[in-house]
Amino acid sequence: MKIFLLVCLILVLVFINACGDRGTKDNNIVIKDSDRDTNNVNVGSNDNKDDNENEVVGSNDSKDDEAVVETFLDENNVVTNVESIEVVVNKQRNLDEKYVPEDLVTLTDVPTCLANPEVNQLKKEAADALTDLFEKAKEELDIQLYARSGYRSYNTQVSLYNGYVTNHGQEAADTFSAKPGQSEHQTGLAMDITSETVNLQLTEDFGDTDEGKWINENSYKYGFIVRYPKGKESITGYMYEPWHIRYIGKELAKKVYESELTLDEYLFGE
Ligand SMILES: [Zn+2]
Repeated sequence: MKIFLLVCLILVLVFINACGDRGTKDNNIVIKDSDRDTNNVNVGSNDNKDDNENEVVGSNDSKDDEAVVETFLDENNVVTNVESIEVVVNKQRNLDEKYVPEDLVTLTDVPTCLANPEVNQLKKEAADALTDLFEKAKEELDIQLYARSGYRSYNTQVSLYNGYVTNHGQEAADTFSAKPGQSEHQTGLAMDITSETVNLQLTEDFGDTDEGKWINENSYKYGFIVRYPKGKESITGYMYEPWHIRYIGKELAKKVYESELTLDEYLFGE
């Protein structure tokens, strides 16, 4: 019994002590609060500093935004992000004449049209995506797509372009053929596709076929866009080419497709 009473006494003492601690702590908090109250001006100025810092952060953000619209061009208008799947080559943005993509592979899983082995190549990632695209077209609509012309070297483009200029004149040639160094085909990320319904040719009629319509509406899901759309001739500088698809990766392709802008407009506002 004595032990029990002793334990009770100890507990009571501990409880009182604990209350005391709490009281002290409470007092401390009150004191601290008072301190803070007296320092309101300083706190206020600190807050202002924070605001200023936020503004600085804001301007950093602006710089980041500028980084997003980095043009990846050197002083000679040669593109610097050549191995990126988001590289943009157009009439203002050139590839070096010596540029050959690092990881070209020969297409093995899709039907091709031409004997020239050079044009039956793409960069690895684009080749894999093209295989997916063609398989899906077959699965969904039972349509067979053909790869007609993919990678083209600078020298091949020289021959093609010069031939077109000879036969059609330069002004006309420039509406349907890129100058050497300005062809997306040199990136290894572009493919001209076709179907038996247009006799495996590259023609505007492809856009009205089931194959062409499916490509226009679905290719973005596999990372491709129709690069030279109808109605955008004045922006791209090229006539409508329903057959020319460009691999830019699924994420960017979805954004460009949904924006209804050309790649040039979407990335650079060009
Ligand atoms: Zn093309």
